[in-house]
Amino acid sequence: MKTKTSYLSKKAQELKPSGIRRFFDLAAGMEGVISLGVGEPDFVTPWSVREAAITSIEQGYTSYSANAGLLELREEIAAYMNRQFHVAYSPKSEIIVTVGASQAIDIAMRAILDPGDEVIVIEPCFVSYAPMVDLAGGVPVTVQTLKENDFKILPSQLKEVITPRTKAIMLCSPNNPTGSMLNKKELEDLAAVAEKYDLLVIADEIYAELVYDEKYTSLAAIKGMRERTILISGFSKGFAMTGWRLGFVCAPEELTQAMLKIHQYAIMCAPTMAQFAAIDALQNGRSDVEDMVKSYRRRRNFIVQSFNEIGLSCHTPGGAFYAFPSIESTGLTSDQFAERLLKEESVAVVPGNVFGESGEGHIRCSYATSLEQIQEAIKRIKRFIDKLN
Ligand code: PMP
Repeated sequence: MKTKTSYLSKKAQELKPSGIRRFFDLAAGMEGVISLGVGEPDFVTPWSVREAAITSIEQGYTSYSANAGLLELREEIAAYMNRQFHVAYSPKSEIIVTVGASQAIDIAMRAILDPGDEVIVIEPCFVSYAPMVDLAGGVPVTVQTLKENDFKILPSQLKEVITPRTKAIMLCSPNNPTGSMLNKKELEDLAAVAEKYDLLVIADEIYAELVYDEKYTSLAAIKGMRERTILISGFSKGFAMTGWRLGFVCAPEELTQAMLKIHQYAIMCAPTMAQFAAIDALQNGRSDVEDMVKSYRRRRNFIVQSFNEIGLSCHTPGGAFYAFPSIESTGLTSDQFAERLLKEESVAVVPGNVFGESGEGHIRCSYATSLEQIQEAIKRIKRFIDKLN
């Protein structure tokens, strides 16, 4: 028999494990670690949502749903997108319920990319984008946002990397890991570029519920953009439902139907009981979401102010639940900072460089953990920095 690895595809061999995982592995097995590492809500899914899933199981709804998801859920999603974000999608032909936003990203890439097609990936960003482009046969072309611009992409930066092979821009606002959010005017500027060069935009709006200062504008609500947007969202973040594995994708019919073919063969449908839970989340979850947002806002204000006070300059993120302070003043690299902070003070953060080159010199700190834990983490980080000086 050949060696096992010789059976692996080139792509599988070349795929690098996520840099976030390495830090979880380092932290696992250590006692008393405060984790600002994970990107998931510390809240349990609201009770009525859990109860809806339990009831669906009790009533025996244990079979497959339609490939695109329960029609009732798609109708709720359409109503929700309209109510909350002022975008209209047909529940019958323009919405697919997916296994998390993660799977939506996958089918979006696979539906639009031929070998060699380019997708602009705006870094620092969620770690899956470039690998998903690559696995779909495309070429991720990275462009770096800068701290000076609050990690917001400038149209001129996009223009610099557009080529005849560019098919789409991958956009995430509010952003993981920086928390940066594009306002209406900034989205309009980006839309003008997409229109001028006739590009699609894959808009990952999974953090749309978690915004703290300005009203959220969906890219698809910008004039002309609905037709060239593949809008990805889900229940993991806003509704505290990471483990349910439920997201969705909305797009014009031709794009949706192509994604549905891939979804149908690869996944069949998202878990049915999770879909019943999601219906309840959309019908009854509003006040829970608002309570969680209030709590995240308090924590955001505390953590950002604290970082600035202890000498780690930190912009104020408009959304999501990450602070992205600069650690350049310490003279350490992001990797060194994160590794030493974990070993010496038992605080887990994620080095910024795992999200892209321009993340170097920063650390991602999730504030989706209790205020007490955040306060203790800040104490420890301050002690760590004082020791360095
Ligand atoms: N997009 C972004 C920007 C994320 O941060 C995450 C989760 N960390 C996802 C997508 C995936 O979310 P889901 O749980 O819905 O697959």
